[in-house]
Amino acid sequence: MKIISFQLKIALLLLFTCFELSAEKILDAITLDEAKAHYLLEIIKHIDHKSEKDPIIIGLLGKNKSLHDAIQKKISGVSVRNKTLSVQNIPSQSNRKNYYSVVFVKDNKLNNIQTIFNRFGNVLIVVDGRVIKTSQLVSLVNRNGQIELELNRENLVKYGFEVSNQLLKFAGTKKDLSEQLSHKQMLLQSLIADAEIKRKLVADISQTLAEKNASLDQIKIILEDRNKALAQNTAKLSDSENLLDKMQKQMNIEHMKIAENTKYMLKQKIQLESKTAELLLKEQTLKELNESIESKKEILKQQNTELFKKSEIINQKAETISAQRTLLIVAVTAIIIISIFVYLALRFGRIQKKTNDELIKLNDQLYELATTDSMTQLFNRRHFIESAQRQINQMQRTKVEGAMLMIDIDDFKKVNDTFGHAMGDEVIAKVAAILKVNSREYDLVGRVGGEEYAMLLSPCEFDKANQIAERLRIKTEELSISHQNNTIKITISIGLTMIKKADKDIDRAIHRADMSLYKAKKSGKNRIVSD
Ligand code: GH3
Ligand code: MG
Ligand code: MG
Repeated sequence: MKIISFQLKIALLLLFTCFELSAEKILDAITLDEAKAHYLLEIIKHIDHKSEKDPIIIGLLGKNKSLHDAIQKKISGVSVRNKTLSVQNIPSQSNRKNYYSVVFVKDNKLNNIQTIFNRFGNVLIVVDGRVIKTSQLVSLVNRNGQIELELNRENLVKYGFEVSNQLLKFAGTKKDLSEQLSHKQMLLQSLIADAEIKRKLVADISQTLAEKNASLDQIKIILEDRNKALAQNTAKLSDSENLLDKMQKQMNIEHMKIAENTKYMLKQKIQLESKTAELLLKEQTLKELNESIESKKEILKQQNTELFKKSEIINQKAETISAQRTLLIVAVTAIIIISIFVYLALRFGRIQKKTNDELIKLNDQLYELATTDSMTQLFNRRHFIESAQRQINQMQRTKVEGAMLMIDIDDFKKVNDTFGHAMGDEVIAKVAAILKVNSREYDLVGRVGGEEYAMLLSPCEFDKANQIAERLRIKTEELSISHQNNTIKITISIGLTMIKKADKDIDRAIHRADMSLYKAKKSGKNRIVSD
């Protein structure tokens, strides 16, 4: 495209040539420096310099004050391609690259073009003086000091250009231009060849690039795979982290629970220790209490023995008194017969009798107290056991059969708990009455515990004993006991055992009856169990 535009522009130049004013006309009116400035500006205007900056800086290489002033004057207020222009003298050592857009060179300074390009980079070089063709620069002045123009064709091709018909006047004849054109054509061909080489180079590079792209694609695929794997691993890692977090939290909770449990256990331990201490103390107290009970029991035993002794003494006294009474009766009879002291003797005898009766009464009371249970009027435990033992001894001697019954009121505690102890006492008494009423004259009945009774039936065979026991059970079952507006029904359980030859000791029989009673309780109460 650039080449085509270049040819077009040249054709235009040829057309315009004949209509332009002559350089001499211009030079008549202005000085040589002003003319240089004029043409310099024309050149700048018609150069399409892509990399120039704003402002377009014109550097003067080799001092020339009048030229500097002429250029300054020429460019003031002028803008080229919307850029302002400025002119500066280039300091001798300066090598500011790409700073100047145009470097104006005095011909004596143009020793080596390459050096200038090296110093100032991408720049349009305009030379004030004659230049050999090969250097291909724009020159403005010929050796005779006349304005003449030659162009730096290389730069013009490089940046593109337009030269006005004014410039054409100074650039030479049509012949020159055709020379220039043929030269351009050659240049163009060389450029085409160069472009071909570059195209090939570009094709090579493209192929290399395509190959590289393919390998890059493969690498990309591998990378994508790796990325996916990485993403999966990251996800797994984050899952694991979450899991770890959860476990950590769980562990913290467990730790807290353990700590709380430990605290609780410590508290419990302390409480246990204090309770153990209390228990020990209580055990100690209990021991002491036991001891005191034992000692009290001992005392009671002693008192009992003493009581018995006293009762025996009373008995002995009663016997003595009885003997004395007989003697007295004899004596009184003798006295009645003998003397007048009969009256007195009789009187004395009456007193004696009264004392004797009172003593017997007292004795009976004492005996009853010692042998009878006051609530039920049955034998008390001790008396029942003594009497029963005697009876058993006799039964063994006379080989008479007999049975031992152990009787216990069922769920008696409930009676006490629900209706009070008074009702309980009433029940105990009522059951005792049933036992008494339904036993035979020669049977022994005793209250041997709180609501426990024992009966020794003799002579009595097993069937009879069972029958009696059943009667007792039914009678009790039928009984209604009332106390203070409350009426209740109760039952009893009975353990039955026959007296055996081996039963020298009553305890054995009582024990067997107790075992049967226990079984009766276990198997549902309100029944008779025999062994
Ligand atoms: P079970 O059927 O197993 O015999 O039950 P229970 O409730 O009868 O149990 P237990 O034999 O242990 O209860 C006896 C109760 O009798 C305990 C005691 O408070 C009470 N008791 C003992 N002597 C008397 C007393 O003279 N009068 C009164 N009212 N209650 C007494
Ligand atoms: Mg009971
Ligand atoms: Mg009992």
